[in-house]
Amino acid sequence: MNFKLNSSNQLVVFSLIKGVTLTIKREDEIHPYISGNKYRKLKYNLLAAKEQGLNTLLTFGGAYSNHIAATASAGLEFGFKTIGIIRGDELAGKVAENPTLSFAQKCGMEFKFISREAYREKSSPEFITNLKNKFSDFYLLPEGGTNDLAIKGCEEILTKKDKDFDYICTPVGTGGTIAGIINATSSIQKVLGFSSLKGDFLKKEIAKRTSKNNWSLITDYHFGGYGKTSNELIAFINKFKEETNIPLDPVYTGKMLFGLVDLIQKDYFKKESEILAIHTGGLQGIDGMNKRLKQKGLVTIK
Ligand SMILES: *Cc1c(COP(=O)(O)O)cnc(C)c1O
Repeated sequence: MNFKLNSSNQLVVFSLIKGVTLTIKREDEIHPYISGNKYRKLKYNLLAAKEQGLNTLLTFGGAYSNHIAATASAGLEFGFKTIGIIRGDELAGKVAENPTLSFAQKCGMEFKFISREAYREKSSPEFITNLKNKFSDFYLLPEGGTNDLAIKGCEEILTKKDKDFDYICTPVGTGGTIAGIINATSSIQKVLGFSSLKGDFLKKEIAKRTSKNNWSLITDYHFGGYGKTSNELIAFINKFKEETNIPLDPVYTGKMLFGLVDLIQKDYFKKESEILAIHTGGLQGIDGMNKRLKQKGLVTIK
């Protein structure tokens, strides 16, 4: 297995009016399909699966999951069979209409669609035993890919050079990525997580996964919750791309950058602050989001 990054893992710097510098780490460009933090989260898990002699990966996700797309693609590239347990039994006959699921299927992923109620029980021992009976032996990746090995992989997002930044910013879903990033910072750096979900239960989740406390969770930019958007957010994503050439996804990185720009404008950061924002990827989700926005007659992502 080869986990080399391609050479376009570039940084882009913007000097902003407020005297702070914002640098974007293009983790979205480390692989064409196994994007951003999902690549980092899979790396040591795939190595562990190989070591354990398991050649099937089984995981969970929603209809537009970046983790499902990344796992399917990694399976194809590194020689694993992949099984996706997908939330929503109504999706069963609709794979062709869903860009994420059709991509995963093309990569060879086999699906099992389950109801939302059943999905809630997915971590229970009974549920896992049933899966073992149905699919025989597999390496289990949790929803969103977060486990200890995923956090270890996310520690590699930051390099020595990144120690010079005052702030490191990342979107937050399950909290695995930020935990790895926090572990890799020095204690004089501050990590800001921008939550894509409503509520601040994630604070506890993150605290469980790191012993350091040089971080905060920003909860003001979820736009109504996971997967929810607004015209204002979409307009921001389009303007950002127009001005910087950097595409953002509507679920994670768009919300983070919207929040960051807002906080800079509100003088949240001291003058001369140097900020590093991690572009965690997720661009595969744009097509699916645009389909839904179009159906509602709303502005789409360019
Ligand atoms: C999954 C994902 C996240 C969230 O990562 P967690 O480790 O679950 O917090 C952030 N950004 C993108 C693009 C993602 O796909």
